[in-house]
Amino acid sequence: ARPAGSQLGEFRLIRHLRRRFGQTGRSVLRGIGDDAAVIRSSPGRTLLLTTDLLAEGIHFDLETATFEDIGYKAAVANLSDIAAMGGTPRYMLVAVAIPPSRTSAEVERLYRGLMRACRPYKVELVGGDTSASRHGLFLSITLTGFAQAGLALTRDGARVGDLLYVTGTLGDSLAGLNLLVTGRKRRIPAGGGSNERHRQYLRYLVDRHLHPTPRIKEGQLLATHRLATAAIDLSDGLSGDLAHVCEESGVGAEIETTALPLSPACRAYAAASHTDPVRLALTGGEDYELLFTISPGNRAKLDRLAQRTGCRFSRIGTVRPKRFGLRLRRGNGSSRRLAIAGYQHFQDLRTIPQGAAWSR
Ligand code: ADP
Ligand code: MG
Repeated sequence: ARPAGSQLGEFRLIRHLRRRFGQTGRSVLRGIGDDAAVIRSSPGRTLLLTTDLLAEGIHFDLETATFEDIGYKAAVANLSDIAAMGGTPRYMLVAVAIPPSRTSAEVERLYRGLMRACRPYKVELVGGDTSASRHGLFLSITLTGFAQAGLALTRDGARVGDLLYVTGTLGDSLAGLNLLVTGRKRRIPAGGGSNERHRQYLRYLVDRHLHPTPRIKEGQLLATHRLATAAIDLSDGLSGDLAHVCEESGVGAEIETTALPLSPACRAYAAASHTDPVRLALTGGEDYELLFTISPGNRAKLDRLAQRTGCRFSRIGTVRPKRFGLRLRRGNGSSRRLAIAGYQHFQDLRTIPQGAAWSR
């Protein structure tokens, strides 16, 4: 991986485009630089806008995912960006470019997956575009949503001393991807050697990869209770996404590795594959959990909210001054700089392993 300081690739391109062409003003409250744009709309409400483009061979691979899986996950990627703003998703536009080898039945399956992910949130498909493609399938989704005026969660509000939290568990999606790529051959040791437990773990990890849950409810709770000072969804890996929050907020951060929430299945997978589970948690993209910060005074309030709603919030670290940088503290007290090793486009496309489906 490149040193964290040399911001090449995707992030650098976006930063350039933002400086050169981006706009914020009276109606654009947040433009380029957050999970969704925030636009002033009717009194009391802001409009949220987000879009995502998925390309065959880069974001998905039909070897390890079905058309329904791809549709499902594409919808979740967008729903999750609205969740990260603390918003309510509403309308969706879908554009597809279809290579000659694909049938209309396959495209329909893609849409079935899309709609299945949207149904719990009553998101409605209202338009899109269709084109032929010479090389591979492309899927572009645009999603609108809304938030109460002044309550949208942005990446720029973290303050020194704030506590760093995540929802759910980390690393499951990457473990599930690895299992899919290795053909589910790896054996996960389960307590007592139970085969049933082993199968449960496999199913859980693969499902977390193919059918992640957008944390809409959690985002809305954090926004309406005015708890989060900043938030982002984990789509590129904790280390990279934390760097976005720190950059937007002008702060540093310290993560405590012993505090990273790991599922029993992820721990078992890590042990069986001789992988460091902390690495899975830090670099695995696509967990679609939320990373957020709260002021220390709100800790008890957040605990009560978690108890009342059954949401899982884990404290994983602390916001530090900018000069502190991004650091990782191990259980033994040792500390090192956090390398940003999530997924970045254009960083070096040739190093993407074959079959790294969904590895964004
Ligand atoms: P996310 O992972 O949350 O979808 P991205 O890393 O894709 O966010 O994008 C970060 C920010 O940059 C977002 O505000 C997004 O709208 C903006 N952005 C990304 N690509 C472009 C582009 N080609 N032109 C303009 N804005 C872009
Ligand atoms: Mg996002």
